[in-house]
Amino acid sequence: TASSLIVGNWKMNGTSASAATLIGEILDGAAALPPSVALVICPPFTLLDRVGRMIEGSVVRLGAQDCRAEPKGAYTGDVAAPMLADLGVHYVILGHSERRRDHFETDAQIRAKAEAALACGLTPIICIGETAEERDAGDAFLRLSAQIAGAVPAGFGADSAGGVIAYEPVWAIGTGRTASREDIESTTAHIRQALAAHLGTDDNLPQILYGGSVTARDAASILSIGTVNGVLVGGASLSADSFLGIAAGA
Ligand code: 13P
Repeated sequence: TASSLIVGNWKMNGTSASAATLIGEILDGAAALPPSVALVICPPFTLLDRVGRMIEGSVVRLGAQDCRAEPKGAYTGDVAAPMLADLGVHYVILGHSERRRDHFETDAQIRAKAEAALACGLTPIICIGETAEERDAGDAFLRLSAQIAGAVPAGFGADSAGGVIAYEPVWAIGTGRTASREDIESTTAHIRQALAAHLGTDDNLPQILYGGSVTARDAASILSIGTVNGVLVGGASLSADSFLGIAAGA
């Protein structure tokens, strides 16, 4: 594809020391990447400020892993979208399957979070994906369409901040079981159709990422799929060699 978005989701990993090393190594390698490759790092909240300072002036952009829909208030432990924008954050991952699973996030909540993020200029990365049970029952496409209908705001992608959908099959996350190229091809084509139907347009559709056990070995093949605009990387984003190897496949 013309340009690729390579997003690293550090999940609940990283200390000030490990982040300094990892970001230093990534910045060293990022200079050699073509300008068509955009790198985004999503550290935990505790490291956003520090990582933001380190990548200032580089091609790497900053992302967060969640936000709350309300702009402020009595919500102990939560973080609002305007707080992220204030830190120089550009992207925010929303509705990751780990948050749906552990924090019982619903599509309606994820949609409200996406609207809040867009309202302060952040680009939401809305995650969708079927479980192994849904896939085995032949319900994967139905499930993805329902998640799109419930979680994706009207006009998503057409806003100046843009919009991103990450297809992360739950059975492929952290399992070493990357979806096959054929699976990713047919499923992202379905997602594109479902987005066009939901949004009522073929223009300015959100970018589509694949996520789930992506490694430097399979990245080039996945990124060559016409309906895939990038990848969302978990485990392999914690090593500069793997993360840069994935970006090199773009
Ligand atoms: P892994 O790359 O570790 O499978 O994680 C994928 C993911 O959940 C990224 O958000």
